[in-house]
Amino acid sequence: MNELKHEIAAMIAHDGPMTLEQYMALCLSHPRFGYYMSRDPFGAAGDFITAPEISQMFGELIGVWATEAWRLSNSPLSSQLIELGPGRGTLMADALRVARISPEFLDAITVALVETSPVLRDAQRETLSSATAQVDWYDHFFQIPQGPAFIIANEFFDALPVRHYVKTVAGWRERLVGLDSSGALTFGLSEKIEAGLSLTAREGSIIEICPTAQSLIADIAQRLVVQGGVCLVIDYGYTQTSLGDSLQAVAHHSYADPLDAPGDADLTTHVDFAALARAAHSRGAKILGPVTQGYFLQQLGIERRAEALARKATPEQSDEIFAALDRLTGSSDSRYCMGDLFKVMAIAHPDTPDLPGFFE
Ligand code: SAH
Repeated sequence: MNELKHEIAAMIAHDGPMTLEQYMALCLSHPRFGYYMSRDPFGAAGDFITAPEISQMFGELIGVWATEAWRLSNSPLSSQLIELGPGRGTLMADALRVARISPEFLDAITVALVETSPVLRDAQRETLSSATAQVDWYDHFFQIPQGPAFIIANEFFDALPVRHYVKTVAGWRERLVGLDSSGALTFGLSEKIEAGLSLTAREGSIIEICPTAQSLIADIAQRLVVQGGVCLVIDYGYTQTSLGDSLQAVAHHSYADPLDAPGDADLTTHVDFAALARAAHSRGAKILGPVTQGYFLQQLGIERRAEALARKATPEQSDEIFAALDRLTGSSDSRYCMGDLFKVMAIAHPDTPDLPGFFE
């Protein structure tokens, strides 16, 4: 049994079963044993690989997009270029490199990174050591100084803890993590019936809700409506709210049991883009998309970028560039290709015009 499992089992023995949301939060963010707090999980040797780690083209196009979003928001001075959960800092480094072609943008922004993991903060500091912009770190979004905000969140929202409600004969009950007779972690259901859920569904159906994501998006939308700016959310997920359990545990590039080794596997869920859009819309923000990542990157000219890079590359590098292009935009195999599974949505100040990537 790993140390976090011991700690969680002791908590449950003392206080009774905990919600899935509490369990996920401990697995991901426990100060000592949380998954992100103690390791760098990215890359071929780690547990998974993200778009900015696949190719520099991804961060470069996001950088061009952010510059354009800033220009179309009337080029506000004293803006914050914010990234939520920047991983190794690769996206931001690639984005800031291409932003050098717009010195007025670089002059207007301060970079704000929201990151709770000390290990990944170190990685970000290293990756961004030669960046020309000022970079500041924060634990929480609400701590970032006022001003127009241009916010990027790639694979951030899927890492936030969720609640599950299961339909039983008596009504909806919340999924809990408890202990079985041998003292092992096991899933169970609350005694309490959840009165607020009025959905009609068959017995056994599951509703997945991410309260943290919804309240964060509402805070972001509120800030954008008052102070101006745009937020770009890129993640795997679905465009319509639907029933079902999307919780998955991944360790060393393969699926694991979410209760097996808490803190040692990444726990994620698919992002409910419709729920995020509703939360942002309720604060008066404009919503663009969601569109698929493949569509978004093609609109931003990823094919031309790949061809330009390939012209200066060896035949071997050129093959890698086109393999990365296929992986980022293709839809043939959804476990390998991200083009269809990943969605892109922007939340913006209501006066923002249509932005690149979202044109019909
Ligand atoms: N955007 C990066 C990393 C995605 S992984 C990429 O595309 O490569 C998720 C990131 O969010 C990690 O940097 C993780 O440490 C961070 N993170 C997870 N939960 C967080 C939270 N509650 N607050 C701040 N950062 C968080």
